[in-house]
Amino acid sequence: MTQKTTQSFDVIVIGAGPAGYSSAIRCAELGLKTACIDNWRDQEGQSSLGGTYLNAGCVASLALLESAKIYHALSHDLKQHGIQTGAVSVDVAQMMQRKNRIVDSLSRHIADAFARHNIERIQAEATLLNEHEVEITPLAPESPYRLKAQHIILATGSSPVDLACAPIDNEFIIDSTIALNLDAVPKRLAIIGAGIIGLELAGIWSRLGAETILLEAQETFLSLADQQISREAYRIYTDQGLELRLGARVISSKKSGKGVTVEYQDHEGNHTLRVDKLIVASGRTPNTEHLAAAEANLLLDENGYVHVDENCRTNLPGVYAIGDLTVLGPMIAHKGIEEGLFVAEQIAGHHNPVNYHLLPSVVFTDPEIAWVGQTEQALRAMGEAIKVGVFPLNATARAQAVGQTEGLVKIIAHADTDALLGVHIIGAQASEMIAEAVLAMEFSASSEDLARTIHAHPTIAKALHGAALLLKNHT
Ligand code: NAD
Repeated sequence: MTQKTTQSFDVIVIGAGPAGYSSAIRCAELGLKTACIDNWRDQEGQSSLGGTYLNAGCVASLALLESAKIYHALSHDLKQHGIQTGAVSVDVAQMMQRKNRIVDSLSRHIADAFARHNIERIQAEATLLNEHEVEITPLAPESPYRLKAQHIILATGSSPVDLACAPIDNEFIIDSTIALNLDAVPKRLAIIGAGIIGLELAGIWSRLGAETILLEAQETFLSLADQQISREAYRIYTDQGLELRLGARVISSKKSGKGVTVEYQDHEGNHTLRVDKLIVASGRTPNTEHLAAAEANLLLDENGYVHVDENCRTNLPGVYAIGDLTVLGPMIAHKGIEEGLFVAEQIAGHHNPVNYHLLPSVVFTDPEIAWVGQTEQALRAMGEAIKVGVFPLNATARAQAVGQTEGLVKIIAHADTDALLGVHIIGAQASEMIAEAVLAMEFSASSEDLARTIHAHPTIAKALHGAALLLKNHT
């Protein structure tokens, strides 16, 4: 470690994922002299802004899911439209190239925004030394040096959890990053964990033709979601051919021949499964291991998350933590982005806190799942007086016309005040439709407000309107 301190900034942001890059750009827009340090390297060893979300997560996953949906539709759905095609086949390499082009293009957008805003972009490992200093270890073989700042924002994100029962070998037993970079469709695939990542990866590879088995330790499927939606999702995914084994805890897995033998336990005993690939999607852990030098005394909780108050302030004055690093809300990109903006504005003297109660959740499967607010089971457990309106998508003309009739919209409102308490959707365009519900709840709308709002007809969003009308008729 050198003692040389070179430049000084108003703000240093460590990490250029959605939380970090949004924060850096907002800091610069607010006139703060800003540096952003990031250590991401792609498969070719090139640095790339955007973090996991862009390079090996949501965006990469969405690009592949779209390809998988098109392939599936061409192979299964065209006949009913009266369209004939020849044989349809998959070129995984080309699919990956398309995904990589999308990732590169979006990463370049961030780099351009950094350049436009005069943000100092540093490709290096950064370690917090104290409230005002960061040690920079360049990725190229150069000597480490130090930078100073008035404020430091920690945004180093998270990584997949390692499971002792499934040691990653990057070939047969793989994590979610490698699972988005396969060069062929596995014939038979198992995934540990039926959380959001497991389900999204299952959606891609099963639609491309892999026989896909999800092994989930919990007995309850998608326990975070409203249980009516989870039951509907379970039915739809199972009908699509996904094999969902609940209460199935993986206890060991090892490479054998050109595949993997997986052993898991459920209430009936031990079982063995033989697959070509095993994907580990058993959760993520915050990247705090090398984030701060011991003498920095950055306070972490027992699970390694950075301890913060409700304003994302750590125990060190002037040092903030945002995104996946904290337990303030779930590990989702838009939470990190909102915190990034909030902290930048806080540093510039404004106070626009994040409304953690109204963070929408989205599962990008086909069909999608999206929700905001509280679930029926949580509200009933609290003894709240509620009323519930459920409208099936197949009752809307648009869903019938596009042939995507699976799913439903569920609205929960307070029985006395009619205030919207939760909106839960499974079906086509759920991720887009949820924005209306978030906006309505952000403005403290009642279900009657939604029911009185004119929705274009025929649209899939009419299902949301339909659910609100059911509640109106309820009173
Ligand atoms: P998760 O914690 O949501 O799910 C992991 C699942 O693995 C759990 O249900 C757990 O019970 C199961 N599991 C763990 N060990 C097991 C074992 N030995 N055998 C069988 N099952 C086992 O984690 P995730 O799906 O990896 O996602 C991580 C985080 O990233 C989450 O917070 C998620 O919300 C977030 N994320 C969000 C999006 C999105 O918003 N669309 C996309 C990707 C990730």
